[in-house]
Amino acid sequence: MASVADTKLYDILGVSPSASENELKKAYRKLAKEYHPDKNPEAGDKFKEISFAYEVLTNPEKKELYDRYGEQGLREGGGGGPGMEDIFSHIFGGGLFGFMGGQSRGRNGGKRRGDDMIHPLKVSLEDLYNGKTTKLQLSKNVLCSACNGQGGKAGAVQKCVACRGRGMRIMIRQLAPGMVQQMQSVCTDCSGEGEVINEKDRCKKCEGQKVCKDTKLLEVHVDKGMKHGQKITFSGEADQAPGVEPGDIVLVLQEKEHEDFRREGSDLHMVHRIGLVEALCGFQMTVTHLDGRQLLIKYPPGKVIEPGCIRVVKGEGMPQYRNPFEKGDLYIKFDVQFPENNWISPDKLNDLECLLPARADDPIIAADAEEVDLTEFERSQGFGSGARREAYNDSSDEEGGHHGPGVQCAHQ
Ligand SMILES: [Zn+2]
Ligand SMILES: [Zn+2]
Repeated sequence: MASVADTKLYDILGVSPSASENELKKAYRKLAKEYHPDKNPEAGDKFKEISFAYEVLTNPEKKELYDRYGEQGLREGGGGGPGMEDIFSHIFGGGLFGFMGGQSRGRNGGKRRGDDMIHPLKVSLEDLYNGKTTKLQLSKNVLCSACNGQGGKAGAVQKCVACRGRGMRIMIRQLAPGMVQQMQSVCTDCSGEGEVINEKDRCKKCEGQKVCKDTKLLEVHVDKGMKHGQKITFSGEADQAPGVEPGDIVLVLQEKEHEDFRREGSDLHMVHRIGLVEALCGFQMTVTHLDGRQLLIKYPPGKVIEPGCIRVVKGEGMPQYRNPFEKGDLYIKFDVQFPENNWISPDKLNDLECLLPARADDPIIAADAEEVDLTEFERSQGFGSGARREAYNDSSDEEGGHHGPGVQCAHQ
């Protein structure tokens, strides 16, 4: 029989401390099946406990720590990662009865992990395209250098006598003979700190707080192709506190809107406005890209750009994260500007009509057809949806048909 400091985790799996890895596996599988939250919603945290025990006992390093030092070994050995505090207190009953109970801060036995500090970081599309290194200044708590995070001279910090370092006091009130009520309240002597520092021995720099404010300069590397919402983590750079493993500083990228480009995954989208003549007779255009390069696009005469159509430039989208030579595509949507009313004298329109594709056949008009007026439609501000623009264009076609001046041309 192996001699171990603590058997709780073995008990959870229902095996002896000398169990082989195979036996552990078997026990875990059986219990996991039984207590999986999908199958057994009533089981509470049982599944978490089983998983935790299994994870520890099948990890040689963690198992060694646990076998030798029990819970404390796990906590100090880094077993208590984020979110682990919960499971620790479930299994081991919390710091109150833990190994470190009352040694430093009664309530959090071992090294608790501090909170992460989350900051948004605004970045332009150019930054995400080209990559960028910026410096960011943050304010955070660091352990006081004057007292080494002790809060006072060596030995000045005394365990609170009133609560025996727990920070909480349990009071027993007798309600009636043989009937007592147990109440737990924050210790008033130490304000729940579990310790007291003599006024005169208190550190002058931090006033016994153990930590001071400090500014930290972080060098932030925004890599090519990073995305909105992506996180950049600086591990262990969050607030320091005595007996606490500092959390991370987490920067969350916030992509700023760009004037010309809209990003969709690794593709870029833009709208380009051209006139009717360009749409029909070909054109050249330039696009200034996010890295300052100028792209020249030639669209040959004879190829028509229909209003609202989309053309694509392959490989000119956003670089892929961690693979920046691979790029998405650039989509250009064409907004075709039609000429204003009366842009040309009516006799010249005949010339134009002769050049344009022939009209559709005239409709067959019933003898009792009612003639109605076609009036301007209240154009909504900005870009309408494609469907709306099409509707508008349809109506102007009909307008042309109504006047029907081109009949001459057809007869020529
Ligand atoms: Zn200090
Ligand atoms: Zn106290």
